[in-house]
Amino acid sequence: MVDDLQGLLRRIPKVELHCHLLGTVRKATMKAMAARNGARTTGDEIEAFYIRGEKPVGVLAIFRELEAHILKTPADFRQIACEYLEDAAAHTVRYAEIYWNPTGNLLHTGLSYAELQAAVLAGMADAERDFGIASSLIPSIDREAPPEDAARMVRLMVASRDPRVPGIGIDYRETGNPPEKFALAYALAREAGFRVTAHAGEFGEPWNNVETALDLLQVERLDHAYTVLDNPELTARCVRDGIVITVVPTNSYYLRTLDRAEWAERHPIRRMGRAGLRIHPNTDDPAFHLTDPTRCWQSMMADFGYSLADLRGFMLNGLDGAWIEDGLRDAWKHEWSAEFDRLVAAYEAGAPG
Ligand SMILES: [Zn+2]
Repeated sequence: MVDDLQGLLRRIPKVELHCHLLGTVRKATMKAMAARNGARTTGDEIEAFYIRGEKPVGVLAIFRELEAHILKTPADFRQIACEYLEDAAAHTVRYAEIYWNPTGNLLHTGLSYAELQAAVLAGMADAERDFGIASSLIPSIDREAPPEDAARMVRLMVASRDPRVPGIGIDYRETGNPPEKFALAYALAREAGFRVTAHAGEFGEPWNNVETALDLLQVERLDHAYTVLDNPELTARCVRDGIVITVVPTNSYYLRTLDRAEWAERHPIRRMGRAGLRIHPNTDDPAFHLTDPTRCWQSMMADFGYSLADLRGFMLNGLDGAWIEDGLRDAWKHEWSAEFDRLVAAYEAGAPG
């Protein structure tokens, strides 16, 4: 039945292009893993990670705790990859690109890059078999680490080349770590034939970082990029070039800095789509943002005033931004559009879908 809007939004086919593996860990899983790996992290501390109150624990701090103390074995990585995809598949995500930062894991687990990548890929294969969801892995540069570590990551990817690992991204704290620091790693990645994307214009960082990501890193799509709106010429360029931008309704920077009463009115996401930018909504860190794909897509309507027709466009933007074969992309565009229209018709008629 497609008897309410939430049911409809849960059932529309989706890709997820911007979700961090460490941002998806279930609470019960983290507790069990911390116990079995003898982590210093207490149950109360883990409880606090999953509360978004007045003073929430920062997501990046949670990631560092996971990296340094909780995630230890190949089985841990395999499990969290599979569980994320199981959770996403329950919201009709049919294909997900998973961001994963190897740098901290290499430092703290004693496992090799090849072992870590194989473990995550094994979890992805488990999920495809058990839940019918396809996925790719996007190793991401830890921009708080030295640029040499980023270049090393790309060389390790080349040495463990796998078709399920199509490209690279970059994340962690953008402030003080602008894109130009990582030009070498991006050049190596492009030279090796990897696709490239980047977090830029997050944390209120200026539009210049978006421009640098496009010009110097030569990214094909952008993550966040909210401050692109501060430069009309750059906005026009992104519109003209059809750059897909993954946006995150639950992004903590705007929740923290905009007054709650005006948040939805003043949030850049409200203006980005209306400016003609090709946006696509994503959960980013669903476990800690207390969200899921259905709520994320619902926020685009309820908070930012987009219509079902707009959501249809976002669905297609996601497929255009996905690093998949063109034949599959075309087939999915065709099938998913028909499915979307059928679901919306059933919803509008109040009939079984
Ligand atoms: Zn992100």
